[in-house]
Amino acid sequence: VVDLGIPNRTVKTTCAYCGVGCSFKAELRGDELVRMVPDKDGGANEGHACVKGRFAFGYATHPDRVLSPMIREKITDEWREVDWDTAITYVADKMREIQSSHGPGAIGGITSSRCTNEDVYVVQKMVRAAFGNNNVDTCARVCHSPTGYGLKQTFGESAGTQDFRSVAKSDVIVVIGANPTDGHPVFASRMKRRLREGAKLVVIDPRRIDLVRSPHIEAEYHLPVAPGTNVALVNALAHVVVTEDLVDREFVDARCEDFEAWAEFIAQPQNSPEATEEITGIPAQDVRAVARMYATGGNAAIYYGLGVTEHSQGSTMVMGMANLAMATGNIGRDGVGVNPLRGQNNVQGSCDMGSFPHELPGYRHVSDDAVREVFENLWQRPLIPEPGLRIPNMFDSALDGSFRGLYVQGEDIAQSDPNTGHVDAALRSLDLLVVQDLFINETAKLAHVFLPGTSFLEKDGTFTNAERRINRVRPVMAPMTGKHEWQIPCEIAQAMGYDMSYDDPSEIMEEIASLTPTFTGVSFEKLDKLGSVQWPCNTEAPEGTPIMHVDEFVRGKGKFITTTFVPTNERSTRKFPLILTTGRILSQYNVGAQTRRTHNVHWHKEDVLEIHPHDAEVRGIDDGSEVTITSRTGETMLRAVISDRMPTGVVYTTFHYPLSGANVVTTDNSDWATNCPEYKVTAVQVMLGSRA
Ligand code: SF4
Repeated sequence: VVDLGIPNRTVKTTCAYCGVGCSFKAELRGDELVRMVPDKDGGANEGHACVKGRFAFGYATHPDRVLSPMIREKITDEWREVDWDTAITYVADKMREIQSSHGPGAIGGITSSRCTNEDVYVVQKMVRAAFGNNNVDTCARVCHSPTGYGLKQTFGESAGTQDFRSVAKSDVIVVIGANPTDGHPVFASRMKRRLREGAKLVVIDPRRIDLVRSPHIEAEYHLPVAPGTNVALVNALAHVVVTEDLVDREFVDARCEDFEAWAEFIAQPQNSPEATEEITGIPAQDVRAVARMYATGGNAAIYYGLGVTEHSQGSTMVMGMANLAMATGNIGRDGVGVNPLRGQNNVQGSCDMGSFPHELPGYRHVSDDAVREVFENLWQRPLIPEPGLRIPNMFDSALDGSFRGLYVQGEDIAQSDPNTGHVDAALRSLDLLVVQDLFINETAKLAHVFLPGTSFLEKDGTFTNAERRINRVRPVMAPMTGKHEWQIPCEIAQAMGYDMSYDDPSEIMEEIASLTPTFTGVSFEKLDKLGSVQWPCNTEAPEGTPIMHVDEFVRGKGKFITTTFVPTNERSTRKFPLILTTGRILSQYNVGAQTRRTHNVHWHKEDVLEIHPHDAEVRGIDDGSEVTITSRTGETMLRAVISDRMPTGVVYTTFHYPLSGANVVTTDNSDWATNCPEYKVTAVQVMLGSRA
């Protein structure tokens, strides 16, 4: 699989897949990349790596890469290759034309969590300073936006509390809605090491993931919570803590606020394990036992994933977990905390860089006059105080005709966003869709302009991982497209009349550091010296901050927030009696644009539907049968795999292949606070064979 020729030079860089952010030495022979060797000095991985980072880099030089800009007037036309100047001028002129005809807010952009902080920063700056609006959003909208919201409300900062090393000090580890052995394998190894040493494990997930029972590891409890009922469960856990007098009063009195009102709410009988048993499907005695273990078992840490956030109450659940951690004093030291396992390599960074329509870099609200003034002074452009459009609002506004031009950086929204039919119609209705990417993906098939981007092997910049660690990404080869990705938005802005230019990405980081209090101590020079730093990195913490909220919360006092359980609208019915939930597997990555173009494709050739033996039997479905999955939004076909990992009534699939299209059937329900789609709960019917 891998060419084992003898390398003669090495470049240290960072994996471009998941939010663990493993460091690698890229070993080259001349200009040819021979192998990726995990770096033992890597702060996040300490010499470990998984099958994706180690072997799945061949996509970077795959023949499917598009290396020249392309234009077409209509999406039914053939693509026409053009030079960079022509493409840049075309985009700038068209965007201006749209603004003249439809108003300044008729255009916007979406940033990518696959690109560097520097690449992302310049896109949001282009939108705010050159487009003149706040219509910028990020693909984090569809994964961890509830993390940003929920942790900011409760703790004061939109980021996880711990560094990865902290898990080695945990006595109780609670994994909620995450599958670390597949999604975050290198961190999972650290976690498993601690579990083998005797830490207790609780897994809360409808599906029996591998971690529940693996060699030398057995979870104390697996709570197969009914999809859509996380908040009822976290409230029931907190109810036990409050009513059985397990609260850490010293911590709460000294460090938190609004506890009494929250405790009064949580102690109400409807939040008890007995009252919620029928909702969550979890026996009350198990809930009581887990709550006692979490509150009294020593250092207790929560690690969570998209099974928490991708719900109509995703933000509520994040706040519910934060409440639980504060009530038991499990914040602010080694071994504890509330920790999002971020999916993409730079999802933390893309959020940090001001990609949300309501926040400038560093999570400062656009309505804050003093903050805006700082940016206005440096950028020399007036900024508007009203938040712009979120991604789902962009789609809705495209369909009503008020949003006409969209710049998409490295995200396949046509495949990854829910309710594919709605997204497809919205994208087709645009006057200008610009896609900056490596391949002609599903979104690019609907684009008018394709601007070729660069792979991580060509990038020079930084990624920020799930533990807020800023890692250097160093170029292994020159850009195959003849242009660095960060230069593209700069040149478009320039062509639109806004002066935005840098000689080197280190200058972009200098600008980020000058504008963002949590980054003031960050520079390429420091990263090259220290290897990596975890933000906040500033005068108070010149070498970074591994653990947050140690003496006080970022917001001062930790805030308890009432988390009323509101059932999702998406319920099983006679017509759609099963609930579909989704996830991913070890060898593949998200929509598969990269991994499907590597040898990893041989380990996972198709998405399948996991179904419980009882649900299969009553439908006449055998292992390997072709089945049709129908929801109120669409229909798709998959091969069935009969599996007792699933509880009855719940089916599961991955979303790595466009043709199987899990998102053809997911709905446009979303989190009440952030619009993060409710991917994890779709009422479906599953039938043997094709309906056609
Ligand atoms: Fe890359 Fe994540 Fe695997 Fe590390 S764990 S090698 S960051 S995919």
